[in-house]
Amino acid sequence: IDYPQTLVPLSRADLLARLHAQLSDGRFAHVQRVEQTAIKLAQQYGGDVQRAGLAGLVHDYAKQRPDAEFKQLIRQQRFDPDLLTANNGIWHGVIGAYLVERELGIHDTQVLNAIRRHTIGAVEMTTLDKIIFVADFIEPGRDFPGVDQARAAAEASLDAGVRFEITNTLKFLIAKQVNIYPKTIDTYNAWVAGH
Ligand code: GDP
Ligand code: FE
Ligand code: FE
Ligand code: FE
Repeated sequence: IDYPQTLVPLSRADLLARLHAQLSDGRFAHVQRVEQTAIKLAQQYGGDVQRAGLAGLVHDYAKQRPDAEFKQLIRQQRFDPDLLTANNGIWHGVIGAYLVERELGIHDTQVLNAIRRHTIGAVEMTTLDKIIFVADFIEPGRDFPGVDQARAAAEASLDAGVRFEITNTLKFLIAKQVNIYPKTIDTYNAWVAGH
């Protein structure tokens, strides 16, 4: 899709070049698959196809920035200081949205929120947020134990896709005994454990 100027002030060719300059070949291929998957989910579930495609394409824009840059931005731009104890997994979405706005000139609040929420979800999620959260998890290049079940859940309903994903991600993080970002647990409680 060539996205309208109202969403992004760059041609598709320029946007792709800006993304590829930030991302490895593998990551660049991933974001294009997420774009296509997000478009399909938007068509299937009555989402905004253009915002879904664009958010899918740029969701990992900041994924390969150095940790030091994120830490500096947290202090400089007065992000929640609790973010300092997190890592790239969390930063590239929450702070990535800020970099997408500043560097790519994307100011659409719905698109920026979907980027912010793409890794950890949120207690309240819009259809667009759910589409990006799920598309990132089930894009055709993903191969992990449970991906077929994740795809089946997303086929049943977008909410079922979100519930499966947040449960699976938490199980995976707990198995690895890594730090769980509190908002990840908030998402789980809201979507799976009732409140
Ligand atoms: P990707 O950017 O396409 O690889 O996928 P995501 O943005 O969904 O996830 C980025 C990484 O963050 C993945 O390795 C997740 O497992 C990880 N992640 C998600 N939630 C948490 C959390 O609460 N704590 C930690 N430590 N990692 C998390
Ligand atoms: Fe990501
Ligand atoms: Fe994800
Ligand atoms: Fe991703």
